[in-house]
Amino acid sequence: MLNDSILISAKDLKKTFTAGNFEVQALKGVDFELREGEFAALVGPSGSGKSTFLNLVGALDSPTSGELRVVGQDVPKLSKEQRADLRLHSLGFVFQAYNLVPVLTAIENVEFVLELQGVKAERRDRAMEILNELGLADLADRRPSELSGGQQQRVAVARAVVSRPKLVLADEPTANLDGTNAESLMDMMLGLRNKNGMTFLFATHDQRMMNRAERVVTLEDGVIRGDHKQ
Ligand code: ADP
Ligand code: MG
Repeated sequence: MLNDSILISAKDLKKTFTAGNFEVQALKGVDFELREGEFAALVGPSGSGKSTFLNLVGALDSPTSGELRVVGQDVPKLSKEQRADLRLHSLGFVFQAYNLVPVLTAIENVEFVLELQGVKAERRDRAMEILNELGLADLADRRPSELSGGQQQRVAVARAVVSRPKLVLADEPTANLDGTNAESLMDMMLGLRNKNGMTFLFATHDQRMMNRAERVVTLEDGVIRGDHKQ
């Protein structure tokens, strides 16, 4: 039976990369479920498969085998266009390296998502609304080069959530931030979950982020070794 509150369901999910004439089994059979409203950390040593898993969930890459449903969609069966649609309308992404468009101001970076979605009216207002909500209004007209790393990442979160996605995926979002900025990014993400019911799954090495998570899922060598609520 389908259950709307399950946003991610992976069964025996595998991903093998072929590099030259050798293979890397990045995921060796992952079973995982994430429910609406969860605030979960994906942890594990470098090379354990965290980014690979997030990329599959984000429909940025395709599994080698196994089942994967994300926000009700059967990801391996989707066409390229349908995958793009899933990313654009149901998912938000935050990356380690912020990835803001350098020639656009903060508000233009946020508006850009709405433009891609074909939203015509009120783009500026909606972008300003989320910047306001996240306390970033005074940064609206600055370009990324005029922002600190912490500020860039906060703008990147605004961009990720402006279209109110159900599920936000973040790959080591605090890896380049100092302690204060990392804490404030966590506060921002937790606030979005608490206020808007958005669901978060973030990969991290950062002990402080792990401590703030409500669930910690540990990947090791391509399999889930631990899964604890805290
Ligand atoms: P993590 O994010 O936990 O550090 P990754 O998911 O990036 O781990 O990597 C898991 C394994 O898959 C590693 O051995 C890595 O070298 C390998 N890998 C990841 N992406 C590729 C790729 N595009 N081509 C070949 N090997 C890859
Ligand atoms: Mg990684």
